[in-house]
Amino acid sequence: MSNTVSISNHGSVAVLRMDRPPVNSLGYDLRVGIADALDVANADPAVKAIVLTGTTRAFSAGADVTEFGTPKGAKEPNLRVVIAMLEDSPKPVIGAIAGQCLGGGLELAMGCHFRVALADAQLGLPEVKIGLLPGAGGTQRLPRLIGLEAALNMIVSGAPMAAAKFAGTPLVDKVVDGDLVAGAIAFAEDVIAKNLPLRRARDLKVKDPQGEAFLQFARNMVGAMSKNFPAPLKCLEAVAASYGQSFEQGVAAEREGFLSLMASPESKALRHAFLAERAAAKIPNLPADTALRSVASVGVIGAGTMGGGITMNFLNAGIPVVLLEMKQEALDKGLATIRRNYENSMKKGKLKPEQVEQRMAMVTGTLGYDGFKDVDLVIEAVFENMDVKQTVFETLDAVCKPGAILASNTSYLNIDTIAGFTKRPQDVVGLHFFSPANVMRLLEVVRGAKTAPDVLATSMAIAKKIKKIAVVSGVCDGFIGNRMLARYGAAAQGLLNAGALPQQIDGALQKFGMAMGPFRMGDLAGLDIGWATRKRKAAEAGVEMKPSVADKLAEAGRYGQKTGSGYYRYEAGKRDPIPDPVTEAMITDYRAANGITPRKISDNEVVERGIFALVNEGARILEEGIAARASDLDVCYLNGYGFPLHRGGPMLYADTVGLPNVVRALRRFAAEPGADASWQPAPLLVRLAEDGKTFN
Ligand code: NAD
Repeated sequence: MSNTVSISNHGSVAVLRMDRPPVNSLGYDLRVGIADALDVANADPAVKAIVLTGTTRAFSAGADVTEFGTPKGAKEPNLRVVIAMLEDSPKPVIGAIAGQCLGGGLELAMGCHFRVALADAQLGLPEVKIGLLPGAGGTQRLPRLIGLEAALNMIVSGAPMAAAKFAGTPLVDKVVDGDLVAGAIAFAEDVIAKNLPLRRARDLKVKDPQGEAFLQFARNMVGAMSKNFPAPLKCLEAVAASYGQSFEQGVAAEREGFLSLMASPESKALRHAFLAERAAAKIPNLPADTALRSVASVGVIGAGTMGGGITMNFLNAGIPVVLLEMKQEALDKGLATIRRNYENSMKKGKLKPEQVEQRMAMVTGTLGYDGFKDVDLVIEAVFENMDVKQTVFETLDAVCKPGAILASNTSYLNIDTIAGFTKRPQDVVGLHFFSPANVMRLLEVVRGAKTAPDVLATSMAIAKKIKKIAVVSGVCDGFIGNRMLARYGAAAQGLLNAGALPQQIDGALQKFGMAMGPFRMGDLAGLDIGWATRKRKAAEAGVEMKPSVADKLAEAGRYGQKTGSGYYRYEAGKRDPIPDPVTEAMITDYRAANGITPRKISDNEVVERGIFALVNEGARILEEGIAARASDLDVCYLNGYGFPLHRGGPMLYADTVGLPNVVRALRRFAAEPGADASWQPAPLLVRLAEDGKTFN
C-alpha cells in the first residue's frame, strides 16, 4: 500500500489524510493511496462517513506535471477513476479543504459528496494556463455545483478564488473556522445523524434560463480574446456541453477537447515554458543547500534608465536602497522618475498613496560612497564603458564591507575583467536586468570565472525575492540574450540589404508572433546604442568599420523614437512607426554603393532567417557551456525579448520545425555567395539533427 494517505478513525468517521510533499500533486502513488484508503474505509463496518483531506499547504495542487506523457502518468488508477470511486462510495465522503485546491485537486474535491473548507483555501482550475482544459470531469461538475456563468469564468480565466466566495453554493457546503478536520468531522457526524442523501455532482442539472444566449455571448468574447491559443475556446465548448446534455455526453466532449489540446503545439509550448522556468532555477554543480548571504540592504550606482528601475524592484520587495549619482541634478531626475512611476501606478489603483510614500522613504539618494559601507549588495548601472566601470569597482573594493556582493548590470562587458578591478573577484557577479527593469521579468545572472557558489545561489534567491525569472549565463559578449540577438539583428540587416524594407521584415516577424519586429525594437531602444557598441568593437579589434544602413541612420542623427526618426518616422508625442521614404532612399543608396541588386524576399524567408539565426547562435552558446540547457534560452527569449509564448521559445520552435529542416535552411543560407560565416550550422545543431534528437 502507498504511504501517501494515512487513515485515522474518529468515532464513526474515518479521516483520510493525503500527504505527498510538497503540494499533494496527484502522481501515481497518491492516486493509489487514495483508492486503497477509500477501500479500507468502505470495508470497515465501524465507519459511517469518510473525510478526505490534505495538508495545511494543499488539499491538492493538481496533476503531477512531471508525470505528463510518462508511463506513470497513464498508470491506473487514473484520476478520473479515483474521482469516480469517491463519487460512487456508498458511504458519504466529505472533502476538507485547506490551502491550494487546484486543477486535478479541485476535480478530486468535486468527486466528494460534500465539501467544507477554510475561508482562504484557494479553489481553481488553472489548466487553461498550460493550454489545456480540466480533463477529469471539472468542466462538467463545476457548472453543476456553481452554475454555468461562474464555472465558465473560472475555467476560462484559470484564476483561483478563495473558498469563502463559494459559501452557500454546493461547492463549499460550509466554511470552517479554526480546526478544519474537527469541523469536517462535525459536519460528517451531522450527515450521518440526518441520514442526508449522497449528493453526486454528476447527477445535478445545470439550470440557466439564459444559458444559450450567455454561451453565444461568451463564444464571441473568448474567441476575440484568445488569438493564437485554442484552449480558452475548447474550455468554453466543454463547459457548454454540461448544459442540456447528459453527464456522460459532457464528459465525452471534455475528453475529446482535452486530447486535442494535449496534442496541440500551443499547449506543448505552454507546458514547456512552465517547466523551463522551474528548470532554470536549478544550477548544475551548485548544491541546493548552499548557505545564502543575507541581503537586507542594497546600493545602486547610476540613477539612469536602468538604475531607477532596478531600485524600484528592491523598494517593492521592502528592501531599502542607497542610490548614488555623480551630480545632484541627475540624482533628482532619477528620484523624480521613480516617484512618477509609483504615482502612475497609484492613478491606476495599483498602489495606495501611503504605499507610494512608504516606498519613496526607503530610497536614500547620495552623491558619495559613504552610505555603501554597510550595504549587502551593490548593483552598478553606470555608463557602458570599461573605464567608468573600473573606477566604480575599484572604489567599491575600497569602501564595501567584506562579503558584500558586487554586481554589474553591464549588457556586454566582460564580468571577469570587471571582477579583476577588485581584490575580491569571488564576490563579483553580473545581474543583467532588462528595460524597463521594474517591469521586465527576466534577469540574467552572469557567473564569472571566480564567482563564489554562495554569491551565485544568493543572486538566484534575490531574483526570486524581487519576482524575477533568473537564468544563469556564463561570460561571453552579450551573455545569452544579447549574443543571440546580435545574430538576429544581423540577419535582419542582411534582409534589408538584400531587398526587403523594415516594414516588411517587422511585419513578417510580428505575424510570426514577435512582440515587436527588430527595426521597431531598434528605434525604441535607440540606434545610437548599437552604433556605439559596433564602433567600440571595431576599435577593440583594430579593424575599420564598414558602415551598415544602421550606422548610416545613426550618423544622420536618426536615433529612433527619441529623435523622431530612425528606421521609421514618428509624429510628435506618438509611438506609431510610419514607413519613411528617407530611410528607403538610404537603403537604396546603400545597395547601389555596394553593388547589390535587390531581390524579392518572401515573408517565410524573413522568419526563417531571423529565427534560425537565433537558434544557431543558441546552439553555439550551449556547446560552449555558456548556458546549462536549451530551455534556459527559451526562458530568456519568452521573458526578455517578446518571443511568442505559443511557440515556446526559439529552441522549442526549432524542435517543432525539426532540426534537420533547420540545418538544411542554414546550409542554404551559408552557401550563398558572400554569405556571412555565422550561417554555417553550429556543430551541436548538426549532431542533434543527424542523431534524430532535439534540443529539449
Ligand atoms: P543611462 O545613461 O540611462 O544611465 C547611466 C547613469 O549612470 C547616468 O545617470 C549617469 O549619470 C550615471 N553615472 C555614470 N557614471 C557614474 C559614476 N561613476 N557614478 C555614479 N553614477 C554614474 O544608462 P542605462 O541605460 O541605465 O545603462 C546603464 C547600464 O545598464 C549600462 O551598463 C548598460 O549597458 C546596462 N543596460 C542597459 C539596458 C537598457 O536597455 N538601457 C539594459 C540592460 C543593461
